[in-house]
Amino acid sequence: MLTSVCGINWGDEGKGKIVDLLSEGYDYVCRYQGGNNAGHTVVNERGKFILNLLPSGILRENVVNVLGAGMVIDLKHLSDEMERLRSAGVKISPENLKISDKAVITMPYHVLLDCLEEDRLADRKFGSTRRGIAPVYADKYMKKAFRMGELLDPERLFSRVKDIVEWKNLTVAGGYHHTPITVEECIEYFKNYGLPLKEYITDTGLLLDRAHREGKKIMFEAQLGALRDIDFGIYPFTSSSSTIAAYAPIGAGVPHLRLDASVGVMKAYSTCVGEGPFTAEYFGEKAEKLRAAGNEYGAATGRPRRVGPFDVVASSYGIRCQGADEVVLTKLDVLSVYEEIEVCTAYELDGKILHEFPYPDVLGRCKPVFERVKGWHTDISQCRKKEELPREALRYIAYLEEKCGCQISYVAVGPERDAIIKLK
Ligand code: GDP
Repeated sequence: MLTSVCGINWGDEGKGKIVDLLSEGYDYVCRYQGGNNAGHTVVNERGKFILNLLPSGILRENVVNVLGAGMVIDLKHLSDEMERLRSAGVKISPENLKISDKAVITMPYHVLLDCLEEDRLADRKFGSTRRGIAPVYADKYMKKAFRMGELLDPERLFSRVKDIVEWKNLTVAGGYHHTPITVEECIEYFKNYGLPLKEYITDTGLLLDRAHREGKKIMFEAQLGALRDIDFGIYPFTSSSSTIAAYAPIGAGVPHLRLDASVGVMKAYSTCVGEGPFTAEYFGEKAEKLRAAGNEYGAATGRPRRVGPFDVVASSYGIRCQGADEVVLTKLDVLSVYEEIEVCTAYELDGKILHEFPYPDVLGRCKPVFERVKGWHTDISQCRKKEELPREALRYIAYLEEKCGCQISYVAVGPERDAIIKLK
């Protein structure tokens, strides 16, 4: 059984919570793209955990967690994250954490270049998380990156450093006029943070293929959402990796396997971190009210998120990109602050009404078309059964299902593990 859990929107849909919940009964949870720019929040009986690189299954005993081939891994960040979780009592060992030998290493100079470029752009910046993600993916495709498997043969790895450092300094020192990076600091980084991970590095493709043959259940955990996908998102305001479900088997290392199910995680309203077009955006007091109700501050960066009402046009596109067989609607409780709820049902572009998500370059000229539906205006965070939800909340869910052409199977009404209602 291969299931992917992916974001339908711009990220921050609450995937961490849903993976944590749905992974019960799964044997493997696998991250397949992105790096420590993710900030997956899981709240369970042991406390609140923010996971950047580790799959959300790490909080469940008996789940083997995999960092897949499509990922980029900041070695220091991973070491720190493992320590942070261990000190909170989470068990992490080569038994329950496997790192793909084909995953790419994020180097300190990638983080440096990310910062240098954002600073150069100043007010034209992309709103990068400054964690080196774009520079490291660029190097991957330039075939100038280091991979985790190289840590298994340090002598060979160290012998490659000089060339790469020379080449990198053409940009760091030559282009940005920054202090050059050195061979020694790169080797130190590998020694301090990479070599201790040796026991965790393996061919995760082989591991997952065998597990699949044995009938084990594998869950793929995506980072970010469809609208941040490098190809299908709001390019260039996207992430640098493929966030879509179809990429999951590839990024995990099992390109020959097919997904059995794609679960889309969709938020009951819209949020977006960073720059780029965000058609249904709220501003001023309207935005403040929703941001405060939803506590919309980035888990990885602490940045206030941009907010707006549910966007049917973007979400329908997200559902299509993710091939979502079912959808989990999150943060419905946040909308309890409204007597009437706005929904963006179409875009207006140069006097024409659009129902399909357009080529991203025109989004800046699109205006949102709103409909209003009756709210429930009462606390629903303690509801645990469908019958306990107010009629208006059920109508809102049915309305979104109809507008987006999807099946909403669960609805989340709070951050806690049990704050979820099964609908179907
Ligand atoms: P992810 O990156 O998709 O995992 O999402 P984030 O972790 O960045 O953001 C989701 C935030 O919303 C976290 O703080 C969660 O604890 C919280 N959350 C998740 N589901 C719900 C929900 O149904 N209601 C409320 N109020 N908070 C939720």
